[in-house]
Amino acid sequence: MPRGVSDSPEALAALLAEADHAVVLTGAGISTESGIPDFRSAGGLWETYDPMKVASMNTFMDDPALFWRFHRPRIDMLGAVDPNPAHEAVAELQRRGIVKAIITQNIDRLHSRAGAVDVIEVHGSLDGGRCIRCSHAVSMDELCARSDAADDGVPRCNCGFQLKSGVVLFGEQLPMEAIEAAYDAAERADVMLVIGSSLQVTPVSQLPGIVLSRGGRLAILTESETDYDHRCTVRIHQKAGPTMTAVLAALPG
Ligand code: NAD
Repeated sequence: MPRGVSDSPEALAALLAEADHAVVLTGAGISTESGIPDFRSAGGLWETYDPMKVASMNTFMDDPALFWRFHRPRIDMLGAVDPNPAHEAVAELQRRGIVKAIITQNIDRLHSRAGAVDVIEVHGSLDGGRCIRCSHAVSMDELCARSDAADDGVPRCNCGFQLKSGVVLFGEQLPMEAIEAAYDAAERADVMLVIGSSLQVTPVSQLPGIVLSRGGRLAILTESETDYDHRCTVRIHQKAGPTMTAVLAALPG
């Protein structure tokens, strides 16, 4: 641990308590304790699938049956898990007014299910679907029912074109409103707490740099190393759930 960098939950609690505008940024690692594999850890999705292929707009358009063979079971898996103590702690920090914004790269909706509000979902989410030809919107239940009823597993709109969930695919534009909200939150943050992200995916990987360039401070709670580690005020290489529980316990009620 570089000199001057703290690694305790108490130091993280103190940093958050001092902040006027703390912002949380999360990645797949906050959800691994709920049972959802991340991309880059050992045993993560990257080892089994090439997400750039199965989760790409090209596959969606060129081989929809392959696309839905990967996605349909994943939707069920994501629906069957629950938020863990880290999601619950983030929601509690927001309720207490300590955290002013929550930005996530995750599509699993676990922050919202833990009680967080106005979550900025920069990669979209599994909250319904839409026809990309006629824009007809459907609920996630409807999308799954249409996939299950189809011989090839491909959910189709009444207009005949295939439906797409709200998850942003590789090769697709990110939702502009969410990206603008994420940049705005980073510009206003005097503390950014990153939980469970390798910070390798742009544009999210740029957000900690924005905070630092404006004089803000950075805390990272992620098991593996990141490019920002040497610029942190607090750097904790531990599991998100127990650490965030300890952070809450260290904050005055
Ligand atoms: P990543 O897989 O690149 O990195 C995850 C990081 O979290 C790693 O550094 C890992 O060491 C760490 N980690 C894993 N378990 C942890 C734990 N219990 N406590 C603390 N740290 C832990 O994830 P990323 O940075 O979010 O980027 C990958 C992309 O994958 C994102 O675009 C995201 O949309 C997508 N993704 C989302 C989900 C989800 O919605 N749950 C799951 C897989 C991938």
